[in-house]
Amino acid sequence: MAGKLTDKVAIVTGASSGIGEATALALASVGATVVIAARRSDRLLALEARITSTGGKVLSITADVSDEAQVEALVNKTQAKFGRVDILINNAGVMLLGLIDGANTEDWRRMINLNVLGLMYATHKVLPLMKAQGTGHIVNISSVAGRVANAGSGVYNASKWAVGAFSEALRKEVYQNNIRVTIIEPGLVATELAQHITDSTAKEQAKNFYGSVKNLESEDIANAIVYAVTQPEHVNVNEILIRPTEQE
Ligand code: NDP
Repeated sequence: MAGKLTDKVAIVTGASSGIGEATALALASVGATVVIAARRSDRLLALEARITSTGGKVLSITADVSDEAQVEALVNKTQAKFGRVDILINNAGVMLLGLIDGANTEDWRRMINLNVLGLMYATHKVLPLMKAQGTGHIVNISSVAGRVANAGSGVYNASKWAVGAFSEALRKEVYQNNIRVTIIEPGLVATELAQHITDSTAKEQAKNFYGSVKNLESEDIANAIVYAVTQPEHVNVNEILIRPTEQE
């Protein structure tokens, strides 16, 4: 499929649903070879078939991104099959909302291990390849929650704040290697994200919050990502904050 990203290889984590799935489709539609990763193999295979049926190039790899060895295997397989990694979309994430006092700290570990460490492992693993190529683009999915903290969202806020800090430090470390770093900060997007909340009160509150405005669609975020990664090489789109019009 010809397009602005022909000959580019992109890894999208968390591609089995929501923003990651839409982003994989959007990148493939502009010519990128996409490597789609997540834990649910059935969903990845369905997406793989969808992309292939429209002439796109795709490889699905089952991986738990919170496990460093699985992230390394994901990048190694991509490198072995396609010989390069031009774009990394660090999208996999969970939002397990709840008050700090009385929280199930397993929720905290899941958020930090995936939203923060998983993103760091993938970045760490692709950097030597991107440096050797002399080009690369890392897109980190943060959130409005990476800029505005709220009661009931403390650890999710902390995880996304970490994404912002890490991304800015990373940008300063690698811009001289022609590696671009972009942070995407969505507001409310209609996905499965809030369905995984384990605290029943927080889950109900999230449902009401999402239900109170017309949400963004995953494609809206995918469009922003495609915009960032299709700019000329001298343009580094550092940050895109994108809310539903009706969100405060
Ligand atoms: P979804 O729940 O639809 O997607 C999350 C993705 O992450 C799924 O593909 C899931 O796949 C994957 N994932 C979860 N755990 C793991 C894991 N351990 N290893 C690998 N993949 C994993 O939600 P969204 O699309 O909304 O979320 C995508 C990103 O967008 C997240 O980082 C989220 O924080 C962020 N975001 C979302 C907003 C929203 O309102 N929806 C707003 C702001 C930011 P699987 O379960 O198959 O592993």
